[in-house]
Amino acid sequence: MPDVIPALTPPKRILMGPGPSDTAARVLAALGAPTVGHLDPYFLQVMNETQSMLRQVFRTQNELTLAVSGTGSAGMEACVVNLIEPGDRMVVGVNGVFGGRMADVAGRAGAEVTKIERPFGEVFSPEEVAAVVERVKPKVVGLVHAETSTGARQPLEEISKIVHEAGALLLADTVTSLGGIPVEVDGWQLDAVYSGTQKCLSCPPGLAPVTFSPRAVAAIDARKTKVASWYLDMTMVRNYWGQDRAYHHTAPINMNYALREALALVLEEGLENRQARHKKNHLALKAGLNALGLTYSVAEPYQLPMLNAVVIPAGIDDVKVRQQLLNEFGIEIGGGLGPMKGKTWRIGLMGETSTSRNVLVLLAALERCLLDQGGKCPPGAGVAAANAFYAAHR
Ligand SMILES: *Cc1c(COP(=O)(O)O)cnc(C)c1O
Repeated sequence: MPDVIPALTPPKRILMGPGPSDTAARVLAALGAPTVGHLDPYFLQVMNETQSMLRQVFRTQNELTLAVSGTGSAGMEACVVNLIEPGDRMVVGVNGVFGGRMADVAGRAGAEVTKIERPFGEVFSPEEVAAVVERVKPKVVGLVHAETSTGARQPLEEISKIVHEAGALLLADTVTSLGGIPVEVDGWQLDAVYSGTQKCLSCPPGLAPVTFSPRAVAAIDARKTKVASWYLDMTMVRNYWGQDRAYHHTAPINMNYALREALALVLEEGLENRQARHKKNHLALKAGLNALGLTYSVAEPYQLPMLNAVVIPAGIDDVKVRQQLLNEFGIEIGGGLGPMKGKTWRIGLMGETSTSRNVLVLLAALERCLLDQGGKCPPGAGVAAANAFYAAHR
């Protein structure tokens, strides 16, 4: 007889890092629902519903809207590799880790990449994008809407006009923004957009919602070469999600159930209500963090409500605080990435995680950790400031 191998017992955390975020019971239950075949009429209906809900969440009429099998990075690859043919010029904005990843992906897809760079935490102005597209005349411009590595929001609307006037396509990373702040795919005329399930959509990681504008689809149809990735080739994947239902790869059935449920929760709440909730809890957290003596590392107009990047105070041990939060309070927050390593904490308030309960618990727990590290803050100041904010904004 083989030894009994005990069943998994994952701890129950409060996920206040850069993703994954907390998930609703309805979403988790969907993962345990009976698996059906990938061409079962029931699943085809789930796909149709998912596409329709994705269009609502992306605020688009785009026909080619679906969930790529893979995490957010697969969505990034899918957008890049379908638009780029070897030798095509692509401009990528690099002001954080994910812009850097996009430039890497583009180079591997054979693009002639021009990077525009900004220090971590800053964003690109329309003027500097205009200057580079005029000089380079790219086929595609790629930007990250919500840089999860820095906590900065890149405005896209004005830049989109500039990119289109130059005859290029705008590719946008909305992995962290979708479901938390406005993402207007049609309104801003974004051409290729990808997201992920585990940030503000609050579904476990595993799928990447994508959408392609008619302009982007025309560019895909005009390709002279095959898409470099077989798995992510939209000219084939779209036949499975479209009328033909032609087998391409087996869809991750239960992950798609979960996404369907997560999108239903987003739409039941309403996009505007959800964005207002993210904003309110962000402002309450900020009031509390400021009262504890912590400052944000991004300028106010560009701060993301779902990703609060704060400077670690002098003399405080980054790793010890995060370990204590995890071990003593079951709370995960993120450390800094790249040049921000050891310098910032990234506190996520994404999707299901964005609640007043989590804001207050984090502020109380963080105060304990700071005091244990020899930090000084007025007793209870963080919780009091957040509560004062909530009281003033009922
Ligand atoms: C999380 C994230 C990604 C990558 O998604 P994975 O699911 O980790 O593959 C890409 N871009 C941004 C902005 C992200 O926050």
